[in-house]
Amino acid sequence: MSDILDELLLQAAEAKRPPPPPPQGIPRPWVPRWIRQPIKWFLLPFVLIDLQMQRLARKLIRPPFKQEGKCKKRGNCCHYVLIRYSRSFIGRLFYFWYTQFLGFYPRLQEPQEYEGKLMHVMGCRYLREDGSCSQYHLRPLVCRQWPVIEHFGYPSILKGCGYRSNPPYPEETSDVLDSEGDPRLKVL
Ligand code: SF4
Repeated sequence: MSDILDELLLQAAEAKRPPPPPPQGIPRPWVPRWIRQPIKWFLLPFVLIDLQMQRLARKLIRPPFKQEGKCKKRGNCCHYVLIRYSRSFIGRLFYFWYTQFLGFYPRLQEPQEYEGKLMHVMGCRYLREDGSCSQYHLRPLVCRQWPVIEHFGYPSILKGCGYRSNPPYPEETSDVLDSEGDPRLKVL
C-alpha cells in the first residue's frame, strides 16, 4: 500500500468528522438528477436480490468468521473508497458509473498502489457531516455489504466501527496484515 493511502486510512479510523473536501473541490455530476435517480430506483431490486443471495449463501455455508456487534453510524468507512484504476474502455465505463451515478468523486488526483494494483481514492458526495448517508435507500451494493465477511479470505472491518469478527481479526502480527490486504477499505 502507498504511504499516502496508509496515512489517510490511519486518519479515517480515528476521525471525528469527514475529511475536508479536496483542494480542487467536489465536482458536480453532469448527469442530471432526473436521469440518475430513476435509473438507481430501477436497479435497486437487483441490488437487493444480490444482497439477499449473498446472505443466503452465508447461511447455507458458514464463513470461518462470524460478524458481531452493530454499526455505530460514524460514517468513517465512507471517508475513502477505492476504485480500480483502468484506462480500458470497460474501466472508464465503470468509473463513469461510479462517479456520475453512485456519487463518488476523486479525493486524490493520482491513483495509489494497493495490493499491487493502482486505485482511485474516492470520497462520496452523499456523506453528510454527521456521518449519515443522504442516499441511504439508494446506496450501492458495496455500502450494503460492508463490513465484509467472506467465505475465503479475511474480514474487512474498519477499526472502531462497532463491528467485530469472531474469532478476532486482524491478528496482532504485521505479516498477516501485509499478506492479506487491509481491513479498513471499501473496494469497488
Ligand atoms: S453512498 Fe452512503 S453509505 Fe455509501 S459511501 Fe456514500 S455516504 Fe457512505
